[in-house]
Amino acid sequence: MPHSLRQQLEQAIRAIPDYPKEGIIFRDITTLLSDASAFRRSVDELVHPYSGAQIDFVAGIEARGFILGGAMAHQLSCGFIPIRKKGKLPSDSISIEYDLEYGKDELEIHKDAFQKGARVLLVDDLIATGGTAEASVSLLRELDADIIGACFVIDLPELGGRKKLRDMGISVRTLVEFDGH
Ligand code: AMP
Repeated sequence: MPHSLRQQLEQAIRAIPDYPKEGIIFRDITTLLSDASAFRRSVDELVHPYSGAQIDFVAGIEARGFILGGAMAHQLSCGFIPIRKKGKLPSDSISIEYDLEYGKDELEIHKDAFQKGARVLLVDDLIATGGTAEASVSLLRELDADIIGACFVIDLPELGGRKKLRDMGISVRTLVEFDGH
């Protein structure tokens, strides 16, 4: 039996070399999600610091942030808000373009997702360069959210995303770190 959650996650997250392209090690959380103990412990650990923090909403980033975020919202007895890829949300939305390694992408959130000043916790499975999370923070701030923190199961510290969010004044929590891309 693994001792710490960190060790358990190192074993439960599958590394797929050269996916989706050469040089990238894809950190696959499907093996974590299918492991009842690893999934439960991850969600418990992600929500732990916020259990008394009166979070109004967990905002999850499509798509893996939805799985973690839904479970977290249940645990925190709060609402869930999806931050989606362009063109997926049915009602009036605001959008933001952000840079990928090659090219650009766009994220959107419903304009009426929450009231000004709502206490929001952001979640995704992994932070790399931080571009996706930075764009999500900008969307939440445009709607005047009070962002209580951002959390991720995995940090790739060499890519600097955590620092980028910290420089934006966002408190970041992660459960396990991996070297490289
Ligand atoms: P970034 O915007 O560079 O911080 O990238 C974060 C987003 O891309 C998250 O939604 C991740 O799920 C995904 N991602 C980036 N790099 C990886 C990786 N090495 N393995 C799995 N997912 C990744």
